[in-house]
Amino acid sequence: MKMVQMSFKFKAIRFFTICLAIVVVLGALSNTAGNHAVAANSNSPVISDIRLGINGDTTRLVIDMSEKLSYSYLTLDDPYRIVIDLPEVNFDIEGSDHAGDGKGIVEQYRFGLFRAGTSRVVLDLAEPASVERMFILPPNGNSKHRLVLDLKTSTATAFKAAMTAAPSRQVVNQTTTRSVPRTPNARIRPRDNDKRIIIVDAGHGGIDPGNLGSIGVPEKTIVLKIARSIRDKLAQNPDYDVRMTRDRDIFIPLGERVNIARRAEADLFISVHADSFRQSSVRGGTVYTLSESSSDREAELLAQKENRSDLIAGIDLRNETDEVTSILIDLARRETMNYSARFTNLLLPELSSQIRMRRNSHRFAAFEVLKAPDVPSVLLEAGYLTNRDDARNLNSAAGRRKISKAVQRGVDAYFATLKAEGY
Ligand SMILES: [Zn+2]
Repeated sequence: MKMVQMSFKFKAIRFFTICLAIVVVLGALSNTAGNHAVAANSNSPVISDIRLGINGDTTRLVIDMSEKLSYSYLTLDDPYRIVIDLPEVNFDIEGSDHAGDGKGIVEQYRFGLFRAGTSRVVLDLAEPASVERMFILPPNGNSKHRLVLDLKTSTATAFKAAMTAAPSRQVVNQTTTRSVPRTPNARIRPRDNDKRIIIVDAGHGGIDPGNLGSIGVPEKTIVLKIARSIRDKLAQNPDYDVRMTRDRDIFIPLGERVNIARRAEADLFISVHADSFRQSSVRGGTVYTLSESSSDREAELLAQKENRSDLIAGIDLRNETDEVTSILIDLARRETMNYSARFTNLLLPELSSQIRMRRNSHRFAAFEVLKAPDVPSVLLEAGYLTNRDDARNLNSAAGRRKISKAVQRGVDAYFATLKAEGY
């Protein structure tokens, strides 16, 4: 009896903690949303160059900045990375595509907007390294303010020790907002205002460009345009409340995309991506839904690639706890997966009538972004950016019109079937 009481008390405390965390996180989010609305990008400080040099056994990174900026860094292993955070800046670096080749200990690096108010540079290391010095050099002659970082080869043990010795690491909170879902099917039913809430998710963004394709426009840019066009098309229907996970070139962690859908109590989540493949002849769209076992090897590899997004952006995943496992979640997820499949079955014929689709156009794999246990979710790979015809089509207004028309018809058909069943 005592055990039961204690366990109940523990659960209550945990539930209270989760609620508190939700309040804190929501508060923080509404603040950033406010700042974000007024942030004038063009007034942001400018980073005009990032370069690497080798001096003896030291690899030096230099960042040219228009003014003296605050900075912090954190180190991550598996794989070894150093992440430098700066205030929101404009990267005005010619022909860089927000990434650069490495030198010395640095294998390669990426940079971009991480979230409103924070820009980020991520260094992928060839081996464990230690930060010997980090400082700002004042302007001198023609040179600007420069942030300098000196790295030296170290050992795996020393790298780990330095990680644990730096508790001021930034923590991106992804798991605390997860709560126990309500009864299965809760999100299938319309709420009091009867509007169907649809979340359109443009994949990648900010520091994560997605794949670079064949026409010089990265996936993050192309899918944002497609997502906007889908949103605008769906928003013509007064019964729909359509929202986007991002409407600018900004990074959003995969877990946060899921949380946005869950907090909104969304009825449907549509994630938009564009694929790449080594054979440029491969083209066509595919719709993916969640499954722990992949439908084929290609789907599995794709999910691994898409799930790398957080790693690319330098997010510390060590503090990720397993999500609350319970029978309720399993039940909700199974039911949700049925609805995701039902939507897919209605969406596919509409897509096929508008754009080229692949032969097996419904596939399954363990995509992180589809893991909301109670929001029917699909991931649309709208085509291949490594195929020039697909890439041109996806990057054109005419192509976007076709996709958004197909999605609109699929969504209409899906909600019509729910309505017919009294939901
Ligand atoms: Zn993608």
